[in-house]
Amino acid sequence: MLSPRPSKIVCIGRNYADHAKELGNTVPDAEPLFFLKPPSSLIWNGDAIVLPSQSQQVEHEGEIGVIIGATLRNASEADAAGAIRGIVAVNDVTARDLQKKDSQWTRAKGFDTFCAVGEVHFGSADLGNIEVITRVNGVEKQRGNSNQMAFSIPFCLSYISKIMTLEPGDLVATGTPAGVGRLSSGDVVEVEVVGFSKLRNPVR
Ligand code: ZN
Repeated sequence: MLSPRPSKIVCIGRNYADHAKELGNTVPDAEPLFFLKPPSSLIWNGDAIVLPSQSQQVEHEGEIGVIIGATLRNASEADAAGAIRGIVAVNDVTARDLQKKDSQWTRAKGFDTFCAVGEVHFGSADLGNIEVITRVNGVEKQRGNSNQMAFSIPFCLSYISKIMTLEPGDLVATGTPAGVGRLSSGDVVEVEVVGFSKLRNPVR
């Protein structure tokens, strides 16, 4: 099982060119961009995403998440790939207005309920070909595949592990494809990592 309190949640930003472009950015050239979400932001399948009063623009970001199964420090891409314990659907919920205001994304990404995580699929996967779909009220908003990532999942894990040790139970969210959009109270948002994990959360 995913530990209820991973030591950290690491998220990759701007890992799909079409999503970077929709927010007026480009994918980073040589190195992935990453940030942390606090473990206190975690909720599970079925739990409510709570819109905070500080933001007028809370958005969904459906992502492929990986659960780390072994300690990774200065890991090669092959070792990093081998240390993945499971695949999960993740919604990296983001207060877009606050993200644009702040140079650090801690506030925009860190509210309670802003990291929704689906059931964990244990076992192996073809990391270079995983599809992720996000729906709001049953309508498809985002569809992407890990084959479109600027930086592959093993590359990202290896890169992160050269900066901070990844520990068993840690969660890495690997970036969102294009189509992010606003969530309103009463919405139901779903993230599906096809064949692996599903996540469904009401918004209030
Ligand atoms: Zn994200």
